Amino acid sequence: EIEVRGLHKSFGDNEVLRGIDLEVGRGEVVCVIGPSGSGKSTLLRCVNLLEEPSGGQVFVGGAELTDPDVDIDAVRRRIGMVFQQFNLFPHLSVTENLTLPQRRVLRRGKAEAAKVAAENLERVGLSDKATAYPASLSGGQQQRVAIARALAMGPEVMLFDEPTSALDPELVGDVLAVMRMLAREGMTMMVVTHEMTFAREVADRVVFMDGGVIVEDGAPAQVIGAPAHERTRHFLSRLL
Ligand code: ATP
Ligand code: MG
Repeated sequence: EIEVRGLHKSFGDNEVLRGIDLEVGRGEVVCVIGPSGSGKSTLLRCVNLLEEPSGGQVFVGGAELTDPDVDIDAVRRRIGMVFQQFNLFPHLSVTENLTLPQRRVLRRGKAEAAKVAAENLERVGLSDKATAYPASLSGGQQQRVAIARALAMGPEVMLFDEPTSALDPELVGDVLAVMRMLAREGMTMMVVTHEMTFAREVADRVVFMDGGVIVEDGAPAQVIGAPAHERTRHFLSRLL
């Protein structure tokens, strides 16, 4: 579903991605781990072209995003993204946060957008917050709204960049539970996370990045449980 080939990304002289090859099959969950500055966010941002790659190719659902002739807006609609910071519209209610992008980007009518919003709020367990404003919600609730907003667009793949890193520890579980549900439902997911329990239990594969390259890519039991590389061991030992 997602395929990255020979991906390079530089910011000026700083070569942040130095040739990334990665495949995420349909319905697969791949967790990306690695130290700060290793290029995890840049990789995710290249997968939906929030950053323009300096070289290489990115395919999502068979379409090449890096093809200069591609309809990038059309491809981007297939990709949902959730960030560490929830990025909700503070002046809009929860429901309006979910309906606005559907109406603007997908040109859905009012009634349909409202229906899809309600369905997705229910999926994340927040039907009772439909008329609330983001500031009145906990961080965990805000993040679940952000996930519901992405889901309301009907994405084929979901990208998560440290979705629980800004949350108080007691709120992390609710967000991870929603992500587990999505994984169970067969959503194709790329998840940058430090939640090793989640990675172990939910990921089909774990990718360890360091210095802009993939050092290790394999089953969680292998990469987390029995890492082959010293750099992976070092990273994990500092984390646990
Ligand atoms: P973290 O765990 O801290 O989130 P990361 O693995 O996500 O780290 P990136 O955010 O991808 O790392 O950053 C990798 C490198 O790219 C860093 O050296 C960073 O300074 C640089 N970088 C990222 N975005 C930009 C940008 N827009 N302009 C210039 N440099 C950038
Ligand atoms: Mg990052």
